[in-house]
Amino acid sequence: DVQEELKQLREHLPAWVEASRLHAAKGKVAGYIPELAGTPANALGITVMDASGECVTVGDCDLNFTMQSISKVFTLLLALMDRGEEAVFAKVGMEPSGDDFNSILKLELVEPGIPFNPLINAGAIAVTSLIAGSGPAEKTKRITAFFSRLAGGRPLVCNEAVYRSEAATAYRNRSIAYFLKENNVLEAHDDVEEVLDVYFRHCAIELTCAQLARMALVLAHAGRDPLTGEALIPSRYVQIAKTFMVTCGMYNASGEFAIRAGLPAKSGVSGGILALVPNRYGIGVIGPALNRKGNSTAGVHLLETLSQHFGWSLF
Ligand code: GLU
Repeated sequence: DVQEELKQLREHLPAWVEASRLHAAKGKVAGYIPELAGTPANALGITVMDASGECVTVGDCDLNFTMQSISKVFTLLLALMDRGEEAVFAKVGMEPSGDDFNSILKLELVEPGIPFNPLINAGAIAVTSLIAGSGPAEKTKRITAFFSRLAGGRPLVCNEAVYRSEAATAYRNRSIAYFLKENNVLEAHDDVEEVLDVYFRHCAIELTCAQLARMALVLAHAGRDPLTGEALIPSRYVQIAKTFMVTCGMYNASGEFAIRAGLPAKSGVSGGILALVPNRYGIGVIGPALNRKGNSTAGVHLLETLSQHFGWSLF
């Protein structure tokens, strides 16, 4: 049960973190966003939070990091809440792509130009265009408010340096977005640069492991914040998001992670990973050094260790 697991976590997690930290040496901090390149490569931190808000927190947990691709799960949820399932899936598919997150090779699936899924960049940019709001500032404000609420209420902030760094160098994401525009996935009323601006800003929202764990906890409890009792997201949409996390959440290593850990999770190029154990825990991890597939080397090792020890796999 949860109390016994928390007890074991308190006992073993420090050693597991140190063992997993050794794997950071095999990875590399993402360099394509210049501002991320300076992050400490062998940092590793984790928070596991249960439904009562009790946390086991170990390692470099004070580190603030940007959400990057983890934000895509939550913009998907907000777009579903704003527009409904039909409108969202008119623009993105439901299949893993088998390509890198920023691929421009395989944008065609369901219909010409429709991105494979909402977690690759093409799909996420399309989803961002669906967020309700009168302009980019209001959309960003709604996204930030939604994320902050899920993270426990304290206002989250965009890391301006990371945002600017990405916006200034995002040649591939710009290419993807213009391609989406050509294919009418971004519509006549969508200004490409404005959509990208909202996208870069939500990727650069900064938080800690504990805040990430709290967001995960809401997903672990079908959209209801177990700490406040508030229903924040319809459970059907959480079900959709969790399914994408299993099939596409860890980029091209999603199959491997499903076999080794078997938990819904989403990683980002900052080295963050959000994971959850349904009906039990929200988990936030940070470990900036990435493997070749783009996932935190140490973070993946740590989550696999935990899941195998406790038998958390869903499968
Ligand atoms: N902002 C990043 C990008 O679009 C997010 C990528 C990621 O975390 O996978 O390149």
